[in-house]
Amino acid sequence: MTNTDRLPLAAGLAARLPELEALYRELHRHPELAFQEHRTAAVVAAHLRAQGWETTERVGGTGVVGVLRSGDGPVVLLRADMDGLPVREATGLPYASTDTGVDEDGDEVPVMHACGHDMHVTCLLGAAGRLAANRDAWRGTVVAVFQPAEENGEGAAAMAADGFLDRFPRPEVCLGQHVGPLPVGVAVTRPGPVMSASDSFRVRLFGRGGHGSSPEHAVDPVVLAAAVVLRLQTVVSREVGAAQTAVVTVGSIHAGTRQNIIPDEAELKVNVRTTDIRVRERVLAAIERIVRAEAAASGAPKEPEITPLTALPLTVNDATATERTVAGLRSALGDEAVVPLPRPLTGSEDFGNLGTAFGVPSVFWHFGGTDPAAFGESGIASLMSGELPAGIAFNHSPHYAPVPGPTIDRGVRALLGAAAQWIGR
Ligand SMILES: [Zn+2]
Ligand SMILES: [Zn+2]
Repeated sequence: MTNTDRLPLAAGLAARLPELEALYRELHRHPELAFQEHRTAAVVAAHLRAQGWETTERVGGTGVVGVLRSGDGPVVLLRADMDGLPVREATGLPYASTDTGVDEDGDEVPVMHACGHDMHVTCLLGAAGRLAANRDAWRGTVVAVFQPAEENGEGAAAMAADGFLDRFPRPEVCLGQHVGPLPVGVAVTRPGPVMSASDSFRVRLFGRGGHGSSPEHAVDPVVLAAAVVLRLQTVVSREVGAAQTAVVTVGSIHAGTRQNIIPDEAELKVNVRTTDIRVRERVLAAIERIVRAEAAASGAPKEPEITPLTALPLTVNDATATERTVAGLRSALGDEAVVPLPRPLTGSEDFGNLGTAFGVPSVFWHFGGTDPAAFGESGIASLMSGELPAGIAFNHSPHYAPVPGPTIDRGVRALLGAAAQWIGR
């Protein structure tokens, strides 16, 4: 079990847990979509100010930055993301969200903290409170980053681009965490790539419309699109080595209105996941090559248009900083609670954009928010093999919600344990 003597930064945490749980339920009840986290940001800023942090709002849109100093020493950045998702909550919890928001198309949609970002905000505010209360236990500067818009991959870059380094101390390391379907108390990470890159595009393929009875007078973009979709399936099977991984999915295809009209164009939406920078470049280049070559093969009257939709970077943990962080997580959660990941997770994150923008190492880990009893005999082995036991909800599911009680305690400790490796006395 955890031992406060090994983590002086956490002193007094137990007494604050009831109010942190209440804060979590309140955040969970009122999720907000990407770049619309006005209420959440106000709650965050009020807590930080009350704790004595220098607090700046509206950084990169709705982001909030807190700075707290305790003499000279290293600068550590701790990050939590704040946004919810357009999901209708189905957890049945007494504090379930019934809120709605307006998405980027202007449509009213249900909103839910289906990715656990409310837990991230709660844990970072809990850690911020301990850092303010236990200033004699550390030395240096902590920069607490409450980031908007992780789900669309834009928030971290928006904050970094908003004069971040001119306004706030440059960190020596960026640390971040994500709650997930692991047993409470467990944390997992690895040096090197820890989460996949995700790249999405819209592809417009141009033909020449005409009558369905006279295809010889037309260039059929439906046939062209079909050829592109099939040929894209060869990227992973023929161009990515057996020891590497990549996913290429065409998730959307649209063309035409009627059976006897050959349309002018077809549109595809493509999503790519990769876990290696060189594989990513190769896959993206292959997609562009195939799209252009198939258009030429069809005699398309115009070059295809390839427009990026979202780009989430590969999340790469610096090896040296990860070793240090893992030692901190072990001291915070217990030696056996920190498990090395055998391979990167297939999910994606924009956290890496912070460290990349600042030119500093970063470390990201996942921590459990699910009742250990739900895993039965299998423990976390099931997650490592990619098979979750039935009944355990995954992030983004309408049923996903971490159990508040022990998860908050462990999430706060994890942040403090990791930070203590740089700023602890
Ligand atoms: Zn998410
Ligand atoms: Zn998330």
